[in-house]
Amino acid sequence: MRTVQRGEFEGGSVFIDGDWKPLSEAKVSMFDWGFTRSDVTYDVVSAWKGAFFRLDDHLDRFFASLDKLHMRIPYGRAEVRRILHGCVVAGGLDDAYVAMVCTRGVPPRGARDPRLATNRFYAYALPFVWIAHPEKQAAGIDLHVSSRIRIAPESVDPTIKNYHWIDLVLSMFDAYDRGADTSCVVDAQGNVAEGPGFNVFLVKDGIVRTPGRGVLEGISRKTVIELCGALGIPLRVEAVPAADLARADEVFLSSTGGGVLPIAKIDGQAFPRWPGPVTKRLQDAYWALHDDPRYRDPVVG
Ligand code: PLP
Repeated sequence: MRTVQRGEFEGGSVFIDGDWKPLSEAKVSMFDWGFTRSDVTYDVVSAWKGAFFRLDDHLDRFFASLDKLHMRIPYGRAEVRRILHGCVVAGGLDDAYVAMVCTRGVPPRGARDPRLATNRFYAYALPFVWIAHPEKQAAGIDLHVSSRIRIAPESVDPTIKNYHWIDLVLSMFDAYDRGADTSCVVDAQGNVAEGPGFNVFLVKDGIVRTPGRGVLEGISRKTVIELCGALGIPLRVEAVPAADLARADEVFLSSTGGGVLPIAKIDGQAFPRWPGPVTKRLQDAYWALHDDPRYRDPVVG
């Protein structure tokens, strides 16, 4: 692999076919099962002020997802790390959305056996993507609790980060129809599942609660769970009935796309205290962790 120049592809870069290239070269075959069957896994890590946040956790999750989907890539962990650094450097970015993707690939024509496809690896870096822009956060995010049921964990293991998002995307349309900003979906028992790009937490009587199954185990969710332990905030990881959201004292989201995001309203009904004190504490602690050398990986290339 060559050495990339900083800002070689100003604004973003893709790693494809063994080299870093401009974003205009970010293409997949229409015959790749990643496209025709959503047979793909990916991971997204953030870079903030020139350093990756919890890159090792994202690499762990990505390599675990590959194993669970019987996928192989021609790069080891150290090489993937170097590729991701290269994407950020080539894109000349300080705050970045950095994705690693593996598709099933294109099987021989007419073949139906997924073992016959050569898996394809891609990576790219874009300017940081927020789940809700800072201005929207300041105005107050209205969360719609959709009655749509998240694809069952018995069907697709949600701990494999995947593109099975049609339930989530349609729930966003439900939200926009009602004038809300984003949405979360439920499981078959009516418990909270997750939303498009985030996990969901509530706070009631000082106790933080978040679903324990049927969700992607977000790295920012893990961070919140660890912060609750470090700050002595009581936490229960358990089934959370969707109806409890509107009755909570505070609700917040967690995502690589913005960390801890306070919710101002549930389906138009405003929380009396927003952002709530527990959410604010966790949000401040989340951003403070970006200076912690245990989680910081300065971008080099
Ligand atoms: N749930 C889903 C469905 C997601 O797609 C994401 C992130 O994209 C999350 C939760 C949050 O995960 P993380 O904290 O790793 O960003």
